[in-house]
Amino acid sequence: MKVLCDTHVHSVNSFDGESTVREICNAALEKGISAVTITDHMEAPEIRLGDRSVYGNAVKQITQSVKDVESLAPEFDGRLRLFKGMELGEPMHMPKLTRKAMEIADFDFVLASVHNLKDMEDFYYIEYDKSNTDKLLAMYFEELLDTAENADFDSLAHLTYPLRYVCEKSDLKVDLDKYIGAIDSIFKVLIKRDKALEINTSGLFKKIAVTMPDINLVRRFRELGGKYITLGSDAHNCKDLAQGIEQGVELAKVCGFDYFTVFKNRKPEMVEIWF
Ligand SMILES: [Zn+2]
Ligand SMILES: [Zn+2]
Repeated sequence: MKVLCDTHVHSVNSFDGESTVREICNAALEKGISAVTITDHMEAPEIRLGDRSVYGNAVKQITQSVKDVESLAPEFDGRLRLFKGMELGEPMHMPKLTRKAMEIADFDFVLASVHNLKDMEDFYYIEYDKSNTDKLLAMYFEELLDTAENADFDSLAHLTYPLRYVCEKSDLKVDLDKYIGAIDSIFKVLIKRDKALEINTSGLFKKIAVTMPDINLVRRFRELGGKYITLGSDAHNCKDLAQGIEQGVELAKVCGFDYFTVFKNRKPEMVEIWF
């Protein structure tokens, strides 16, 4: 039986989310999705700004996100599995605030993300040219290694995130072979710590036109002994829910995975790939 799960979804409890958790649940039923994990943004360093954060008050948003999931899960029980998660941004920048974020709720699932380097803006806002791109990417992979080694999380989100913007905002061609040593180190740490790697399918529908990470890197993760894969559409509205998830599952299979993973109570559950 085909089982599709989307473990990276934003609701109105993210500054850039457009759909309520109820709308997401209804869309999941319409699309034949078995499980959804709501992973609203928690940019941990922003906690210090409270209501003054341009992203909104992270603690209030995540508290509400978890409340929404807890109140709707019983109603959808038997039709849809609904899990409470968060997308924890920059967990290594201010560890004290990261710990505070982790204490907000008993999460089912924590995704770790790096959207910006320390004291820098989101990769989305950077202008890329020959003089800065290599250095930024090297620093990005370095920070991901630190995150993989030291953060408390379940799955590492959208590895190669900056490439999406390098591709959208410049004509530069990035040769990932240059970073394969750094990426291997990240994979080895994930494997050693029993952490998952996310296949983020949002890139399939952007100019970059591949998953983040792409097929070569997912295959590499498997070759090195990777066990856990999670699949996320990174939808910010119910229309995009589960977009690309089926392609993501196929990609995982091609790369040698017979199972993908969903997390409940921060523990991996293996879901057999149906073909
Ligand atoms: Zn993200
Ligand atoms: Zn996201």
